[in-house]
Amino acid sequence: MANIQAIRGMHDVLPEQTPLWQYAEKTIRDVLGSYGYSEIRLPAVEKTELFKRSIGEVTDIVEKEMYTFEDRNGDSLTLRPEGTAGCLRACLEHGLLHNQVHRLWYYGAMYRHERPQKGRYRQFYQLGVETYGMASADIDTELLLLTDRLWKRLGIREKVRLQLNSLGTISERLIYREALVAYFEQHLEALDEDSLRRLKSNPLRILDTKNPAMKDVVANAPELMDYLGEDSRQHFQQILDTLTDLGVSYEINTRLVRGLDYYSKTVFEWVTDELGSQGTICAGGRYDGLIEQLGGKANSAIGFAMGMERLLLLLETLNVKTESTVNVYLIRVGEQAEKLGLRFAEQLRTAIPDLKLQVDCANGSIKSQFKKADKSGATYALILGDDEVAHGVCGVKSLRDEQGEQQTFALSDVVEFLKNTHNYN
Ligand code: ATP
Ligand code: MG
Repeated sequence: MANIQAIRGMHDVLPEQTPLWQYAEKTIRDVLGSYGYSEIRLPAVEKTELFKRSIGEVTDIVEKEMYTFEDRNGDSLTLRPEGTAGCLRACLEHGLLHNQVHRLWYYGAMYRHERPQKGRYRQFYQLGVETYGMASADIDTELLLLTDRLWKRLGIREKVRLQLNSLGTISERLIYREALVAYFEQHLEALDEDSLRRLKSNPLRILDTKNPAMKDVVANAPELMDYLGEDSRQHFQQILDTLTDLGVSYEINTRLVRGLDYYSKTVFEWVTDELGSQGTICAGGRYDGLIEQLGGKANSAIGFAMGMERLLLLLETLNVKTESTVNVYLIRVGEQAEKLGLRFAEQLRTAIPDLKLQVDCANGSIKSQFKKADKSGATYALILGDDEVAHGVCGVKSLRDEQGEQQTFALSDVVEFLKNTHNYN
């Protein structure tokens, strides 16, 4: 019988890859912590209606990417394609939005039925950040500073560029929409099938086209920036001024419209040239209208989502040295040593809580245990044989220093030795 395989586009992260993931996740948590953000944990499944109402019916996600199924009782449920809707649903449901501000983050798998390719999967991980209750441009700027800081900490700032645009308010966008439709109607012959369809349903999305044949017609289209009112203009300018002040470089991309309907004013993407057409690693914007759209009292909101797999692909180009899973490997040979070894290992773990100590439990020959010790990435091997047990000592051998002779320590001195030679955190 053939082995059962994973679902297309849904990937395992194997043990050799997890240290880099953990390094990225820890760095992200540290940076979020340094801005005072709190974690929220949300279900992976929501009512289908939630995504239809928030993301918008005429979007790639809702039209063709959702994993929707009927629950046993007939309800239509959907595996979350993104986290913004669920986060807002949770905050509304628990009354977190009454006269309060929030800075939240969540982390987890998202699901979209897309054509799998490098940097595009059917299950992928996102870090999401959402803030509520702040209308000022300072929170927009804070999100950009936070992500800028994260790239610097991860050592990838040179590999990413910040692109910014303002979509204005919904009413400003409506006026622009008319101008845009009028323009495209004069150039129907230049539009592809998708765009002809979008001309009626969601003309702004035409600007987002990836079809090279439409490059010119899109380049000459009217610009939303020219339709912004004074308030939107100022809001945008304030962000730009602060970024310039603080030395964060950016590009204005007037064609940046983002795929979802709920954005207003600021939208942004952090893009890289190193991942082909899957170059956006982090994207977000302001969505002041969405809270009301989901039944809450009108309130400000802005957030972003980061694609972890794309971030990891970038990190993989850097040769980041991650921490080893094991610092010290305990070799036991003989019945007495096996017995004493487990107890000794527990004592060491109690004495040095950060120590990553692996005990060989395969009970092979001393040679095969040394081989495993080498492979484990440990810095030291501890060796307990019947001789050592009889004398109350333990052999210690450096696995990094080829010339290093095996030393012998009294069992009671091993803690001191390990503490002095290593920093375990
Ligand atoms: P794209 O234009 O690449 O399809 P999107 O606009 O659909 O992206 P968002 O909904 O804004 O993406 O999601 C935020 C981020 O999540 C993206 O910038 C990307 O890094 C990541 N992402 C989105 N879809 C996928 C996917 N199918 N596989 C891996 N990462 C993804
Ligand atoms: Mg997409």
